[in-house]
Amino acid sequence: MDGKRVVVITGASSGIGAALARQLGAKGDGLVLSARRENELKRVAKESGAEAVPFVADVTRRTDLESLKDAALERFGRVDVWVNNAGRGITKPVLELTDREVDEIVAVVMKSVIYGMQTIIPYFKEHGQGHVINVSSFLGKVPLAPYRSIYSAMKSAVNALSSNVRMDLKLDYPNIHVSTVMPGVVETDFQRVAGTPTPKAGSRVGAMIVQSADEVAAQIVSLMDHPIAELYTNPATPELVQQYLKDVGLFEENMARRMSGR
Ligand code: NDP
Repeated sequence: MDGKRVVVITGASSGIGAALARQLGAKGDGLVLSARRENELKRVAKESGAEAVPFVADVTRRTDLESLKDAALERFGRVDVWVNNAGRGITKPVLELTDREVDEIVAVVMKSVIYGMQTIIPYFKEHGQGHVINVSSFLGKVPLAPYRSIYSAMKSAVNALSSNVRMDLKLDYPNIHVSTVMPGVVETDFQRVAGTPTPKAGSRVGAMIVQSADEVAAQIVSLMDHPIAELYTNPATPELVQQYLKDVGLFEENMARRMSGR
């Protein structure tokens, strides 16, 4: 494994996580791939080379993530990068959310990232180095899709928690990096799971050109080589953030008009 990284990826059974696994596997990195669906996970592990091992885990359970870390250390003897990527969306306006839906998204999108960071960062501190990558969403910065409601809110929480941990580590642990990745719209199973049509990569959604999982994965691979605090994967989104922050009320009104066609 010398010269190669050992990377743990949650949500690796499909989409961005699976694409990332295949790209890192092609470089010979050691991979521990995790998700709930065992067959899909085994298939992705097989496609990701000889050094990829599947590990079934539910990110809403802290003990599953502890076991995931132990499995990685047992197999490879170390962990260099931990990617909190697992997540799911929802299509429900705020006023219609049930308690069950809120609890589910809070657990899958937000608690999973707390559990992931609490699991691996003490290990990184012991070794004085490491990289945590939290896959958030552009909607965590600019909540322009009101029907994603609690999902956008929990991605905002992921952004805040990532910032907090970054600042906690900054001065005493300069070689531990925490990065937040904010994709725009990506063609994966995400939309099907959330109950909305899947846009094709290359098509246009508002100001964004929809990305493929492979494009986003390649950007995450580069991020591992050159860690930065926050990465917007879609080139259109930094400008949208500027517009949003300049005048939130105006931005929301324009977006509401565009979405309703009025
Ligand atoms: P996918 O639906 O293809 O992948 C989601 C992954 O998360 C699957 O591997 C799924 O595996 C896993 N997962 C879901 N719930 C759990 C759970 N409770 N425990 C363990 N694993 C779980 O979608 P994407 O690849 O698009 O999503 C990856 C990340 O990217 C997510 O955090 C998503 O919010 C984010 N994102 C996606 C965007 C998009 O447009 N696609 C835009 C912005 C952000 P399994 O079901 O086998 O457990």
